Amino acid sequence: MQHPKRILVTGGAGFLGSFLCERLLAQGHEVICVDNFFTGSRWNVAHLLSNPAFEVIRHDVTFPLYMEVDEIYNLACPASPVHYQHDPVQTTKTSVHGAINMLGLAKRLNARILQASTSEVYGDPDVHPQQEGYWGNVNPIGPRSCYDEGKRCAETLFFDYWRQHSLRIKVARIFNTYGPRMRPDDGRVISNFIVQALRNEPITVYGDGEQTRSFCYVDDLITGLIRLMETPDEVTGPMNLGNPGEFTMLELAELVLELTGSRSEIHHLPLPVDDPKYRRPDIALARSTCDWEPQTQLREGLGKTIAYFDSLLASERSTRLA
Ligand code: NAD
Ligand code: UDP
Ligand code: UDP
Repeated sequence: MQHPKRILVTGGAGFLGSFLCERLLAQGHEVICVDNFFTGSRWNVAHLLSNPAFEVIRHDVTFPLYMEVDEIYNLACPASPVHYQHDPVQTTKTSVHGAINMLGLAKRLNARILQASTSEVYGDPDVHPQQEGYWGNVNPIGPRSCYDEGKRCAETLFFDYWRQHSLRIKVARIFNTYGPRMRPDDGRVISNFIVQALRNEPITVYGDGEQTRSFCYVDDLITGLIRLMETPDEVTGPMNLGNPGEFTMLELAELVLELTGSRSEIHHLPLPVDDPKYRRPDIALARSTCDWEPQTQLREGLGKTIAYFDSLLASERSTRLA
């Protein structure tokens, strides 16, 4: 086992953050989860609260934060388009002011800091698959810009703190990730399709459903984040982390229907503005630098995620009947 560290996870009560806290605790570290519970919830980390090495603090990262830690994973930011567009000004503030505060904290402590960036920095890409060297095609003034440009600015801040203050930074560009503990009302495609299928309600495919995404199972992604954090100081990223398996939304809908045995029909709804047409990571850098690649195929990961939502919806149904 490595030397135990004290690690801050912002957004630690969210979907990815809660799995990251769990994994770091299992490795023997002390973990401080900071979250304002905008999209996250205490329930996501309730099973960790009895661990004396774990602590939860309600705090908004747009405000300064003073504490003593060895490492910082900066995940605080709503990730679903439905949630990040709910209060777009707050979304930009969370990415930009949040990055400034966490970088300021890392600078004072000389702590390593990892930023949860996103494949959205590539926007609606002209290059396929996306490599880290591609600068992207992002609309700066559209409804997705608060997220995309906020994350791009956060990357800029990370690299300026690295150049200007020699901070030890790691930037992960995370591609669509899914798994248990997503909220039924999260709004992203995998949770929507599964919940709709389990309720035998229409599956809402936006546009013609020919747009593609590449879906990574949460356990694989968490392994990638930790491997990146553990790389030598000269490795800064940006590094793509995602599963290169690429699917159209219609293929995804069919797979969810097959795996759930649902009677749902597919309904087409309008395509959201600026919805990217293709997305697939080139993960050569993660393979060579971190010896990392996803282990879980979509069918297997969907099976686990469906089982989670099935039991969640079953307990909701029994609560309603009681
Ligand atoms: P999530 O919405 O479940 O988690 C985000 C967490 O951040 C929540 O717990 C939320 O309450 C918290 N938060 C939001 N604003 C905050 C603020 N101002 N101060 C403190 N806490 C705040 O989303 P997720 O899928 O777990 O994503 C986690 C991170 O990974 C995000 O930064 C997201 O942009 C990034 N990411 C995720 C994906 C994905 O597919 N899941 C893809 C790319 C990037
Ligand atoms: N900051 C923080 N915690 C710390 C140190 C700094 O939240 O332990 C915040 C602080 O509010 C500041 C920001 O991080 O606004 C950037 O810090 P930096 O030292 O880079 O800049 P300065 O303090 O000079 O503005
Ligand atoms: N999508 C869909 N039906 C839904 C939700 C999303 O067809 O109920 C589509 C959406 O238009 C996009 C893809 O699925 O093309 C992925 O959307 P998501 O919000 O999960 O992630 P992002 O667009 O940020 O990659």
